[in-house]
Amino acid sequence: MNGNLNQDTICALATANGIGALGIIRLSGNEAVEIAQKCFKGSDLRTAKSHSVHYGFVVEKDINDERLLINDNAKIDHQSSTINDELIDEVMVSVFLAPKTFTTEDVVEISFHGSPHIAKKILEVLVKNGARLAKAGEFTMRAFMNGRIDLAQAESIADLIASENEAARKVALNQLKGGISKEISLLRGELLNFTSFLELELDFGEEDVEFADRTALNNLLDKIERKLKSLIESFQYGNAVKNGVEVAIIGKPNAGKSTLLNALLKEERAIVSAIAGTTRDTIEEVLHIKGNAFRFIDTAGLRETTDEIEKIGVQKAKEKIASAKILLYLYDEFDSSAEEVISFIKEFQRKDLKIILLHNKIDLNGGYFENELDTKIKSELFPDITNTIIGISAKDVESVEVLKTELSLYIEDLKDTESNVIVSNQRHYEALKSSLLAVDAVKEAIKSKIPTELLAFELRNVLENLGEISGEFTNDEVLGNIFSKFCIGK
Ligand code: GDP
Repeated sequence: MNGNLNQDTICALATANGIGALGIIRLSGNEAVEIAQKCFKGSDLRTAKSHSVHYGFVVEKDINDERLLINDNAKIDHQSSTINDELIDEVMVSVFLAPKTFTTEDVVEISFHGSPHIAKKILEVLVKNGARLAKAGEFTMRAFMNGRIDLAQAESIADLIASENEAARKVALNQLKGGISKEISLLRGELLNFTSFLELELDFGEEDVEFADRTALNNLLDKIERKLKSLIESFQYGNAVKNGVEVAIIGKPNAGKSTLLNALLKEERAIVSAIAGTTRDTIEEVLHIKGNAFRFIDTAGLRETTDEIEKIGVQKAKEKIASAKILLYLYDEFDSSAEEVISFIKEFQRKDLKIILLHNKIDLNGGYFENELDTKIKSELFPDITNTIIGISAKDVESVEVLKTELSLYIEDLKDTESNVIVSNQRHYEALKSSLLAVDAVKEAIKSKIPTELLAFELRNVLENLGEISGEFTNDEVLGNIFSKFCIGK
């Protein structure tokens, strides 16, 4: 990134842009204290201790007023405010001196009465006195550029702010504490040792010396491979936690899909939100079960059917099932044959899709569900353990509870990963996968006894791929892309 960028002192609203009891504006840079002082009437911030808080007023000082200029170095209380100064707000100012600050630079935070108008006025005064408005993510980018946090930690700050449930918060916090970076840097450290030895061999040129023990290298690569695989695997859980689990509710018209969805959502009305889905006629309903988000894809559009429309409906259902992680398939014995259910499920079965068959309307059958129909379905579909069959009555709260427990189990199973660290970031996931490919390439290279030079090259490749996660090997474009997704003030 542009080195000069860090010379500027930047400012931005750190709190949400709206009315609140308080708002906070943050300044960071060499001149943070100096600029804040120019807009402040209260004690002298320039002699303030680090991590101290000061009462006073933000003012737009009249720079033509000589008394103020003379007084500038002295302690000013607001009694001495000149008639031409405009008081903007009564504030508390916190001073944090480098290097123990978020950005490692001098940081000043101004807590004001939370009005967007006051925020705007204060920012204007700060800019008039030499600060620059911060770009999206610029505070966090400085923290990264100045070595305070690595890239994965910077990204976790965005995740933490975006977290909407307990599980997402925990995963983001763990990453902020350096979770994945620690794991990766340990592996990189060991690999770097080997690479140095290999490069030493190259320095010896013609002589037939082997500093890097190939067997030990192989063992290390195996270890790295195992670690990478378990991290990659953890992404299933991490992604579920971060983005919620997509659940498609499918079934013939009148099977009870809407009834079920309503029953599921009714209980949690307060925390349910409806958002427009990706396709025009899809509605997603988000439901939190035990702190995890499930995104139910409503297939209401499939209900009103003539044969022609049903065909389109089936097409849409297919698309929905393709992206879903869980399929809830509803049927009832009055309207479905075993063959029908079996052939539908067989068509959509795939390894990473959990299928829950819901035999609905069991209340019409005295609450009993295991009949010939289910026995047939089970015998055809149940060698596959990802399938489950539950008898429910969509109208009944207890049935819904059974289903909720089943859904939670899905998350519990994912959680049961070998890895202590949970990967939830798509970019990390991609970097881990390319690291794994790079490791495989090195193993191949060793097997085929390729020249040391090429082997060293392949190893460097692994190191770079791993380094992308913490930001040790990341180009400006990637960085720009990551930080531009942050909001201003972060
Ligand atoms: P969809 O077309 O799959 O969305 O089906 P609906 O949810 O609209 O339900 C169709 C009809 O079946 C409605 O009249 C519901 O009241 C009824 N229904 C749904 N679930 C049950 C159930 O568990 N028991 C009974 N008796 N009726 C149900």
